This record gives sequence, C-alpha cells and structure tokens, in this order.
Amino acid sequence: MIDPNEYGFSTLAIRAGHERTNEGEHGEPIFPTSSFVFDSAEQAAARFSGEEPGNIYARFTNPTVRIFEQRLAALEGAERAVATSSGMAAILATCMGVLKAGDHVVVSRSVFGTTVVLFNQFMVKFGVEVTYVALTELDQWEQAIQPNTKLLFLETPANPLTQIGDIRALADLAHQHGALLAVDNVFCTPALQQPLALGADIVTHSATKYLDGQGRAVGGAVVGSEAIVGADIYGFLRTAGPTMSPFSAWIFLKGLETLKLRMEAHTQNATMMAEWLEQQPEVSKVHYPGLESHPQYDLAASQQRGAGGILSFELQGGKEAAWRLINATEMVSITANLGDTKTTITHPATTTHGRLSPEDKALSGITDGLIRVAVGLEEVEDLKRDLNRGL
Ligand SMILES: *Cc1c(COP(=O)(O)O)cnc(C)c1O
Repeated sequence: MIDPNEYGFSTLAIRAGHERTNEGEHGEPIFPTSSFVFDSAEQAAARFSGEEPGNIYARFTNPTVRIFEQRLAALEGAERAVATSSGMAAILATCMGVLKAGDHVVVSRSVFGTTVVLFNQFMVKFGVEVTYVALTELDQWEQAIQPNTKLLFLETPANPLTQIGDIRALADLAHQHGALLAVDNVFCTPALQQPLALGADIVTHSATKYLDGQGRAVGGAVVGSEAIVGADIYGFLRTAGPTMSPFSAWIFLKGLETLKLRMEAHTQNATMMAEWLEQQPEVSKVHYPGLESHPQYDLAASQQRGAGGILSFELQGGKEAAWRLINATEMVSITANLGDTKTTITHPATTTHGRLSPEDKALSGITDGLIRVAVGLEEVEDLKRDLNRGL
C-alpha cells in the first residue's frame, strides 16, 4: 500500500488505501460479506478486544469501506476517516461523538437546511444548546461563544449565495475557547479545499455530491484525527450503525479517482457561466467566489484552489422571472441536488429555503428572483443556450 506522505493528490486519489489480495486484482474489490471468520478462538478474542487489528463485522469493519476511508483521509491530509450511510449521518455522528447534554454549539446560519433541522429538532432534545450566526461576521461568532461552547460548525462556500467562512480565523477562535471547528466540505471537496490544513478539527462530507460526482449513491464521511474521529466518532458509528455499504464505498472509490479532474472542470464551466451571466441585462447579481465582484474573492482565493461548481444569480423580475427561466430550460435538470456531472437548477425561495419565514429569508439573502445552478460538465455553450431560453 502506498504511503500518503510520499505521493501527490492525484496519485493518492487513484491508489491510496488498496492493498492487493492474493488474487492480484488491479481494481478495488467489493466484499459483500456481513461477517468475517477467525482462525481460532484465540484470534477471535484478540480481534474483539482490539489487541489484533482486523475484520470482525461489517457494521464497523469492511475491507472495501476501509479502502474508501483510507483514500479520503489521504486526500484530506488526515489521520483518519470514517464512512457513513449519508452526509447527514456524518453530521449526526459528529454531534453524537463530541457533544453531551449541557454543551453549546455555534452554527453558521447558512448551513444545509436538514442540518438546521437536526440541531433544532433533535440535538436540542438531548440538551444541546444552539446559536446561529452569520457565516461571514467574525464578531458574531465571537459574541456567541459561551463557557460551555464545544463546537463551531460551518459550510464554506455556503449554499446558495456562496459566502465564504474564514476557516483559519474561526479555527483560532474555537481553539482559544477550548472548542472544536467542524467544516462541511461538500462544495469544495479536498481537491479544492483542505480545512484541516487551515486549522479545522473535523471535516464532514456528503459523498452523495462531488465525491461520487455522478449522482449514483448516498453516503458520507467524517475526517480528522485518530483522537477525535478514530475514537469518539467511530465509537458512535460502530455502536449506532449508520454505516456505508461496500457497494456504495466502491462507487465512491471510483468517484475519487477522477475527483481533481472533475472539480477543475466544474470550476472552469462555472466560471464561464458566471462571467456570462454577469453580462446579461436581466441579471442583477451573480454570486460566485471566482468572480472579482464577489465580496470575499480574496479570502476564497487564499483558502481554495478553485471556486467550485455552484453559483447563484438574481433576476430583476423576481419569482415570476425566475420560474419562467427555470420552466423554459430544455436540458438542465430541475432538482435541488448538486455535485453531479449533470447541471441542476433550482429556485431556493420556494424549495430548499421555502420553510424559512419572510424575515429569515431576508436575513439570509434568499430573494424571490434568486436561482441556484450547480454547473455540471456539459458543453458550456449548450448550458448558456438553455438558460438563455427564458432570460
Ligand atoms: C447534501 C448535503 C448534506 C447532506 O448529505 P446527504 O448525503 O444528503 O445526507 C450535508 N451538507 C451539504 C452541504 C449538502 O449539500
């Protein structure tokens, strides 16, 4: 098996984690087995006590899943990754692993909607207190911190307005107060951003998005140190069981092999689309961290290797114009999913952010004329033509 310290990103994405079996297979094998057999009672005892590493039962040990975990850990520059059944299971496992009743969490107001539901409806039931702050306002984060603050949680770039959180500054802030910083790295993936190198303690992933990149499976992961991810978070996962299946792990392994190429191509296509949209008279604003007009262009450039595939834009004509544009498309997919080779388009105000009150929408900048596009890998000229039909 190759040493992650000796090879570059693309090599690790293709080869890390796989140790050939006696069959000499070139591709990574799928192990569809729920349990594993021991040579002796002595070995069984040693495996169960943790004295001898090795496979026991697929709720918490499976060779195909382990290849995915080791490969993703190598790409994030981490000691350890654990795979989960979904991105939400990764966030749940993070909470269950590091929080207890009486703890307080500071969360960016612009995180994935289901993450907000997880905190507001479920974590609070177990006595975890939550404060929401504006992602980009460092003083709000600072003011929200309490003596019992244990975790700061954010996504950057955020959905759908692509605001950028300052990972270095927020990691310093968390550590000054004895808290941990967790970053949901779904939009960038390690190909464009490595939060641990910027000081974050925990990275969560929805593998469903770019890690697969082709819309085939649901999965997730938590990445970080042996002490946090390898002990507390793995400890929750092996007990509670929101585990990734070996079939899904194999799909995500194939996704990782082309991750860097795809993220570069998504960035290139999204940049061309953003520049084109900025020139359209019907478009009043384009949100994309790769545009110099983005208020945090420099911060994005300092912590990301590319601006990624997600952009949003506002139409002067409000909801009517936004729905007209979406309905006039003939090729792009009308769906809230993202991170696919296929371009998707959505109207946040009436879908992903539809549950927000008018005040919260205003506070979050979700206007009626806002459209989000997760730019795929089709020909840019075809994408422009499709969006232009309803402009
Ligand atoms: C999709 C998504 C999640 C949740 O992942 P699932 O795999 O759908 O559970 C979490 N965070 C972000 C930013 C996402 O886009």
